[in-house]
Amino acid sequence: MRRQRRARILATLGPASSTPEKIRELFEAGADVFRLNFSHGTHEDHAARLRIIRELEMNSGRTIGVLMDLQGPKLRVGAMAGGKVLLEKGQKFRLDLDTSEGDSTRACLPHPEIFAALENGTDLLLDDGKLRLRVDSFGPDFAETTVMVGGPLSDRKGVNVPGVVLPISPLTEKDLKDLEFGLSLGVDWVALSFVQRPSDIEEARKLIGNRAWIMSKLEKPAALDHLDEIIRLSDGVMVARGDLGVEVPPQSVPVLQRRIVKKARAHGRPVVVATQMLESMITSPVPTRAEASDVATAIYSGADAVMLSAESASGQFPLAAVEIMDNIIQEVEHDPEWRKGLDDNHSNPDQNTPDAICCALRRVTDILSPATTIAYTTSGFSALRASRERPHAAIMALTPSLHTARRLALAWGVHPVPFEHVSDVSQMVHHATRIAQRYEFAKVGDTVVIIAGLPFGHSGSTNLLHVATITD
Ligand code: PGA
Ligand code: MN
Repeated sequence: MRRQRRARILATLGPASSTPEKIRELFEAGADVFRLNFSHGTHEDHAARLRIIRELEMNSGRTIGVLMDLQGPKLRVGAMAGGKVLLEKGQKFRLDLDTSEGDSTRACLPHPEIFAALENGTDLLLDDGKLRLRVDSFGPDFAETTVMVGGPLSDRKGVNVPGVVLPISPLTEKDLKDLEFGLSLGVDWVALSFVQRPSDIEEARKLIGNRAWIMSKLEKPAALDHLDEIIRLSDGVMVARGDLGVEVPPQSVPVLQRRIVKKARAHGRPVVVATQMLESMITSPVPTRAEASDVATAIYSGADAVMLSAESASGQFPLAAVEIMDNIIQEVEHDPEWRKGLDDNHSNPDQNTPDAICCALRRVTDILSPATTIAYTTSGFSALRASRERPHAAIMALTPSLHTARRLALAWGVHPVPFEHVSDVSQMVHHATRIAQRYEFAKVGDTVVIIAGLPFGHSGSTNLLHVATITD
């Protein structure tokens, strides 16, 4: 199954999209990678979805990626008397470790690490930033606050502490259990929520090893202070605008989005723009003009993928949301301004052989306009370096590893094809041209550009560029 567009669609599965028919519909409409969101649903729910995806992949002949998203240390207040209380602007409100129900004077905040990291004047945001409390005084087990912005506060609402690096791991007890479960299912990517520091990724890498690629969700301002290091240590990143937009003012979100996309592209790490992209489509069959424009902006900036959350997981129009996203991407990618924008923001190659070959791939592609390019890749590294160049033609990634193929499903312009090892150059050319025809990327008479590493099968050894013409 051939897909023309370069940017990828990451669709979250949920109650609105869990039957084999629904998942197939979303895939055929354009979803390239599916997200299993471990903030919701049971292990059995996720296992069932994964089984359906793998079966679909087998029947469709197109590699599909699966990303598991860990909930991370999402902080919450405890239960409230009657389920909900009203906080008035200017009143005092206490947070403590007392697990009894809260009322209009106090609530439980069962996270001693927050109290340990407070300072007077710190703002606490409740319920996605709808309520704001300012800390007047605090101890190891309480904080006295003044309500700056009031409103209803109900059971177990989320708490954000912007501007404070919390002494907590990005992996909670629940995450550790979910992680082992997800890895045993064989997910391709693991997304870490609320990453704050580079060591968070190192910690996760120790547990995950090479069993999956790691995506850092950038949703804490603290992470932005170490952006380069975090991107370098990650296999991919997500501009997680939902929680990010709680912790920074709305006007900062587009600025940070551009900065993150640009840096991730420079490092050659796939970058996903996420949350509220087609938000109104949760209840409406058409998006707002502003939403269409938001998806387009991400594509113009050269992001690898755009994500659907509730739109595809629990909304009323999951299929329409994927179709519209697909349409917007295709329309943008037909605009000469899109191509010009990518070229203007081209990232310079590093000074090594694989990057030199990938840079050459791009130049040769500009000059010869081949039907497709083909990258032999073992770890996926070469395909990502080729993708980083954002070449004119598609990149078929031929890999002997099914894991690599599935991971690459998220990368800009990459069409992963699991394929057997090759042992010499003539075999390589023969297979590449045959596969390009079989997947309808090229036909007899077309030119294709192939990159590979000699000796074959060693990752990161790309040192060969070959131009071939397809013959009978
Ligand atoms: P979430 O992450 O949907 O898991 O919260 C994305 C975001 O915060 O934007
Ligand atoms: Mn989030």
